[in-house]
Amino acid sequence: MAEGDATGSAAPRATRLADGVWLLDTRFAGSPATIGVYLVQHAGAADRFDLVEAGPAVSHDAIRLAIAAAGFAPEALHTVLVTHVHLDHAGGAGTLARRYGARVVSHRIGARHLADPSRLLASARRVYGDALDTLWGVMESVPDDLLVAVEDGDELEIGGRTVRTIHTPGHASHHAAFLWPDGACYVGDAAGVRLPGSDVVRPALPPPETDLEAWDESLARLIDARPDRLRLTHYGEVSEPLPHLAHVGRKNRAWAEAVLAWVADGMDEAGIVLELDRLARAELVAAGADAATIRRHLATSDAAMTAAGLLRYWRTKRPERWRAATGG
Ligand SMILES: [Zn+2]
Repeated sequence: MAEGDATGSAAPRATRLADGVWLLDTRFAGSPATIGVYLVQHAGAADRFDLVEAGPAVSHDAIRLAIAAAGFAPEALHTVLVTHVHLDHAGGAGTLARRYGARVVSHRIGARHLADPSRLLASARRVYGDALDTLWGVMESVPDDLLVAVEDGDELEIGGRTVRTIHTPGHASHHAAFLWPDGACYVGDAAGVRLPGSDVVRPALPPPETDLEAWDESLARLIDARPDRLRLTHYGEVSEPLPHLAHVGRKNRAWAEAVLAWVADGMDEAGIVLELDRLARAELVAAGADAATIRRHLATSDAAMTAAGLLRYWRTKRPERWRAATGG
C-alpha cells in the first residue's frame, strides 16, 4: 500500500494538515487512522507545541514516536487540551502531565475525573472487566497544579493564540470543543465519527450520558461559532463544517428513532444490538467502504455500546416516549 494512505499499514504516524498543525495517529489496538491526537506548534516559538487530546494511556509510546515524526521533542510539550475524559481522549493525560510537566485543560465537569480517575475507571471496568488495563493502559491522575478547568466561553492563551471553549454536551455532559482563531474547531466526538475510507458519519452515542436534546443545542452552538473546518478525533479534518454538523444531528435522531421503534416492536436489547450492527454495516457498504474501513468503524463505537447508550437515553431523558413505546 502506498506511503501516506491512511487506511494501510504504511499509514503515517504524523500527517501535516496545515502550517504548524499535525494529526498524530495513536494506532490504537493496531488500527490506523481511528483515534487521533492533534499537535499544534506555538506561534513564535518553533520548537514548542500543544496537543489537542491525550489519546489512550496505552498509546503513550506511539504518540511519542508520532511527535518525533512531526519533528518535535516530547519534552517541548506545553499544554494538552482534552475534549472530554473518555479513555480514548484523555486516558493518557496524566502520563503526559507527569512526564513532561504539561498542563491539562478540560471542561470543569470532567476536570475532577482527571484529578481523581477512580470513579471513571470503576465504570470502565464494568464495561471492559479485566481487559481494561491491557486494552487501554493505566490512566494516571493529573496533578492539581497542572489542571486547568474551563467553562463555555472561556478564552485561554494557548501557544500565543486565543482559544475559545465551547461547551458541547450530548456525547458526555463534560464535552467541550476548542475553537482556534484561524477557524479550526477541535470537536472531539461532538461531530460524530467519520473515518478515512468512506464519507459515512457514524453517531457516537455511548452510555451513560448520551442526551440528544443537549446534543442538538451543542450543534447549534458549533454552527453559531462559524468554524472554518472541524477536526474530529475519529478521525481527521472536515472542510465543510455546516452540512457535516447538520448531518450529525439528523443521524443521531435517525438511529435513536430506529432503536425506539424496535423497542415498540417488542425487541430485547440483544436483538437491538444485532439490528444496529446490521444498520451500521449496511450504511458503510452502501457508501462503498471496504472491509478494513468497516472493521475500524465498528471498533470505534460498537453496536452494543450504542444500543446501551440510546436505550438509557430514552428511558431516563424521554420517559414519556419510552412509556408510549413500551406501553408501560
Ligand atoms: Zn471517542
